[in-house]
Amino acid sequence: MRQRMLSELVGLMHPSPAEVFGDDVLVGPDIILDNRSATPGSVFVAIPGERVDGHDFAPQAVAGGATAVLASHTTDADAAHLLVQDTVVGLSALARGLVREARSRGMLSLGITGSSGKTSTKDLLAQILEGHGPTVAPVGSQNNEIGVPLTACRIDDDTAHLISEMGARGLGHISWLTSLVPLDVAVVLNVGHAHVGEFGGLAQTAQAKGELVESVGPNGWAVLNGNDDAVVGMRSRTGGHLAFFGEGELPAGDMHVRARNVTMGAFSQARFDLVVSRDGREENATVQLQVVGRHQVANALAAAAAAVAVGVPVDAVAAALSDAQVRSSWRMELHTRHDGVLVLNDSYNANPDSMEAALRTATELVQFQRAEHPDARVVAVLGDMLELGPLADDAHAALGRLAKDLGVAQVVAVGGFADQICEGARREGLEARVAHRDDVIDNMDLHAGDVVLIKGSRGVGLEAVANALMEDN
Ligand code: ATP
Ligand code: MG
Repeated sequence: MRQRMLSELVGLMHPSPAEVFGDDVLVGPDIILDNRSATPGSVFVAIPGERVDGHDFAPQAVAGGATAVLASHTTDADAAHLLVQDTVVGLSALARGLVREARSRGMLSLGITGSSGKTSTKDLLAQILEGHGPTVAPVGSQNNEIGVPLTACRIDDDTAHLISEMGARGLGHISWLTSLVPLDVAVVLNVGHAHVGEFGGLAQTAQAKGELVESVGPNGWAVLNGNDDAVVGMRSRTGGHLAFFGEGELPAGDMHVRARNVTMGAFSQARFDLVVSRDGREENATVQLQVVGRHQVANALAAAAAAVAVGVPVDAVAAALSDAQVRSSWRMELHTRHDGVLVLNDSYNANPDSMEAALRTATELVQFQRAEHPDARVVAVLGDMLELGPLADDAHAALGRLAKDLGVAQVVAVGGFADQICEGARREGLEARVAHRDDVIDNMDLHAGDVVLIKGSRGVGLEAVANALMEDN
């Protein structure tokens, strides 16, 4: 298979692969971007980045075992060079060839998009599908024009399922990704405010995310959030079967996956009846999630619907969901300190929707804390929500107000929009302080039982605050 996929590159290459490549070079190599992950026989793809150029690291990759370099110019590495004009396009061609080959022998390809929850849902789905055949899923949150093909390049002859996380920052992005990795199952979680500054508005965001379901053929499935109107609106854009997931009333479709009798446990872990209806039949199984937060119910339903669509029995889905963990770090991680303070580390990223989900989770957690510590409060360390464009000022002020509405006791705001957050909070009478990342801890007055939420966009680097709060505790 690896030999054949090389034919995808021929059109891009000069000189031809036959001239530069030994016959056996491409037998089962890993495709790598980071020289530190070189393995014997791997192919190093040199990608020019903003700060460093992968071409400069080709010699180290070859020293580490790589036997070929996919590059846009020759390097000092003593190995065969596959030269292409654009190495991201070259990597994409490798992925496209591999995926086409694997799908023709029956591998199933599942993709997930949405404004929030892609990585969490991907982790849940992977843990369901792993019980039913070899599964390749992204490490962390690899969801762009590099991460998607890089993940796809990890499939081999035995792979039964490929899961792709597909992000979009504009029109045409997801179409490009699905042209590389066509889908049998397309999951759309929600349309919200993430990157709304780049999209220009929610309608454009929905237009861009809906490209995912367009790639699904008549035998495939579009798995849509039946509680999100913008997602429901995508139903006319697919040629596949329709599955809706959610709670309460759902639109007409070929399958419905619902949560009934949702209750929240001590660490904000949901318990619910998973109800799958299709072909006039209804099946039930109880799910007790390990992952934290009410919003994980929707993610779990989405993963369940996708898994049922590819043939996993409902009781196996429920059992796997009940065991599953979020594998990617800094998302809703809980840590109880020795002094009884509960840290909710959600410092991976932030947008208005995920901020609300996190604040709600924190206020739910504190209810349970109060059984033992009646005076327990929520202290929220809130950082910027980046990429909101002209909506940014209002969105940060609204975040301050929301914190008050949800019963947060104190806000410590960090970053370029800290003033707006504090202003919004103070106007409602909530205590709020602006702090530098290094001074956050000094600005908090914590007591046993308190819940500290830490959340902001990646660029703010609040994981440093979370680490400091958890250190020695
Ligand atoms: P990114 O675009 O950064 O890759 P993502 O879509 O992969 O994000 P996750 O990494 O799964 O999203 O989750 C990011 C944060 O969003 C979580 O820590 C949580 O606060 C929140 N979140 C997860 N799922 C949902 C959801 N269904 N609705 C609202 N917020 C959610
Ligand atoms: Mg992600």
